[in-house]
Amino acid sequence: MIYLDYQATTPVAPEAAVAMRPWIEDKFANPHSPSRQGREAAAAIEVARKQVEQTIGLRGGRLAFTGSATEAINWAIKGTIEKAAPARTRVVAVQTEHAAVLDTCEWLQGKGFEVTVLPVGSDGLVALDDVKAALDKRVALVAVMLVNNEIGTIQPVGEIAQLARDAGALMLCDAVQALGRVAIPEGPDLLAVSAHKIHGPKGIGALWMRHGAEPVPLIHGGGQEQGLRSGTLSPALCVGFGTAATIASGQFERDHAHVERLWAAAREALGSPWIINGSVECRYRGNLNIRREGIDATRLIADLRDIAFSLGSACASGSGRPSHVLRAIGLSDREARSSIRLGFGRYTTEKELAGALGRISEAAQAQGRFAA
Ligand code: PLP
Repeated sequence: MIYLDYQATTPVAPEAAVAMRPWIEDKFANPHSPSRQGREAAAAIEVARKQVEQTIGLRGGRLAFTGSATEAINWAIKGTIEKAAPARTRVVAVQTEHAAVLDTCEWLQGKGFEVTVLPVGSDGLVALDDVKAALDKRVALVAVMLVNNEIGTIQPVGEIAQLARDAGALMLCDAVQALGRVAIPEGPDLLAVSAHKIHGPKGIGALWMRHGAEPVPLIHGGGQEQGLRSGTLSPALCVGFGTAATIASGQFERDHAHVERLWAAAREALGSPWIINGSVECRYRGNLNIRREGIDATRLIADLRDIAFSLGSACASGSGRPSHVLRAIGLSDREARSSIRLGFGRYTTEKELAGALGRISEAAQAQGRFAA
């Protein structure tokens, strides 16, 4: 199996798996209990918290662990709207956001809140003038992701955060695909991340919150996470996340250089029949979302079962619906259906990438011959 689906999830770093093991096998104490073992587990969680905070690199805030980035995003949006001044009843988001943002906004709309969803250009980027025009005294929150999960494009989050601040609104950044891959700009008040996209375990995310911008709790109960989020934390998952985060920041340059090499090799191997979806420049290069005239991407994936790649987001893949992101950048349904997403990173070798690309190109050509 050649794994080229790094946006769906990433292989667990061996160091993270090793660090988690004792917390699964022997050290099973409840981290919220006052026993010596419980305090040891709580201390391990605090180390992990610092590790994730350091990798995010923003100052003036704190981090709470959650069960996923989806939970962190739900919490940030719903908890901010609830806390906002009565006149601030509007959320601004972008068409290409993840379903965790868009579906939460839709839910809010059903509750009578106002939502403005801004368009993007064919490059996948939102225009700062559109953001500015959407901002007024009624906006509580602006939600914009840093690196897009489907097409890898990078939004001007620092500038957008400044515009939000000028308008008295908070800014939520979905940095799930960005952490460890690109630098996180200063500016966001709330930032959502997920361990399994940075070679950590699944089932844990986090919300970084600027001091004073903490949303009201979404999950009620024992208040174990600083009184802001309830539920017993998993020391194993926290330790795995922290270890993965430390490795990601420690070898940021190396991972970056590796991804650049893979990108260059992939571009050369695929050649001109393949067109890149979204901006080529403002993009994380471990995401190659491409299309080729006349191919049926679903069939391509079915023909190449031993290569893991996808149509777009993992959520859209099963639904049979064309991706909302590809539609937002102006692709026709036909073009969207001829698009594939290849995602590679730290553990992808140039050799396996070349092998996979050769087979993808052959299978695409064969479809062309068959159709002709
Ligand atoms: N935001 C983006 C950009 C993502 O790619 C994902 C995962 O696919 C999420 C949010 C949700 O993350 P999680 O799987 O931790 O809920």
